[in-house]
Amino acid sequence: MRAAVFKGPDRKLEIETIDDVRPEPHQLLLKVHHCGVCGSDLHMTESHSISALPVGSVMGHEFSGEIIEIGSALKGRFKTGQRVAGFPYIQCGVCEACKRGDTTFGACTAAKGIGLGQHHGAYAEYVTIGANGAHALPDIVSSEEGALIEPLCVGLHAVDMAKMERGATVLVIGAGPVGLAVMLWARFLGARHVIVSERAENRKATAARFGATDAIDPNQSLTAQVQAIAGKGPDIIFECVGAPGLLNAVMMDAPRGAKIVVAGVCQQMDQILPVIGVVKELTLQFVLGYRPADFDYVIEMIAKDRVEVQHMITDRITLDQLPDAFEALRKPTTQCKVMVGFQ
Ligand SMILES: [Zn+2]
Ligand SMILES: [Zn+2]
Repeated sequence: MRAAVFKGPDRKLEIETIDDVRPEPHQLLLKVHHCGVCGSDLHMTESHSISALPVGSVMGHEFSGEIIEIGSALKGRFKTGQRVAGFPYIQCGVCEACKRGDTTFGACTAAKGIGLGQHHGAYAEYVTIGANGAHALPDIVSSEEGALIEPLCVGLHAVDMAKMERGATVLVIGAGPVGLAVMLWARFLGARHVIVSERAENRKATAARFGATDAIDPNQSLTAQVQAIAGKGPDIIFECVGAPGLLNAVMMDAPRGAKIVVAGVCQQMDQILPVIGVVKELTLQFVLGYRPADFDYVIEMIAKDRVEVQHMITDRITLDQLPDAFEALRKPTTQCKVMVGFQ
């Protein structure tokens, strides 16, 4: 099969023909339809990354596809031809958590991430997934939308973890894919003001389509600007950028009692001044991933036309265009989701 292969830190991906993947007894083989490019893919290929990839890895963890082969232990449970969004973790099936049937993200400590270095991902024509990883797509949900389910679930889980109250004033820092997904679900689940801090004009326009009620200037006090719009500072601040220094800047600027949800992934040592959090009684909440049930919820909301999500995609490319497109994303860009299509 053809795949975009990781050749080493800070090196360009290369399109190669590699061995076909085959499903193990509890796995399904998918023909990949679409796969999104994620910011964490870029980070994983950098030399300073703490989640460095083995050379020869195939990334791609935001994908949809069609079941073309069913593992021997799963016969009768699935149909070939069924389109699915893939959950990008394969649980071990034998640990305590797996035996309990606990599919909560992180519960199985031996789970393998698909496209995250432990198992070939979907920057390839085919990918294998776990039996629990196939989330059926109804006909009305496109395969392209199917590949957006994963990043949308990241945002949904961040909003869940914030325990947001109806009518809340929410500030979202950064209108990349995670920021957009956070805005969408914050608005959908009852926030009154969803205010985005973002520089790029095109991203601000997209943010408005994803539920942002206002956009503010990242170079001025965010709390003061939110106050001018909402009559009060933000109740919840979602940090969706992950740049070093940003968390402390957010703490310094936050109003007393605010909750800061850290959805951005800063992969280097970073400093905060804890006393700022103490005197303001700030809450810091870190978030990771999503729950399997989130996939089905998001698919259903798209299928029932309750949310519109495809505007997150700014670029549509082929597998052959991926190595160049991937390099281009290393420089600051106003692109949002770059989507690889295989059909
Ligand atoms: Zn991702
Ligand atoms: Zn397990």
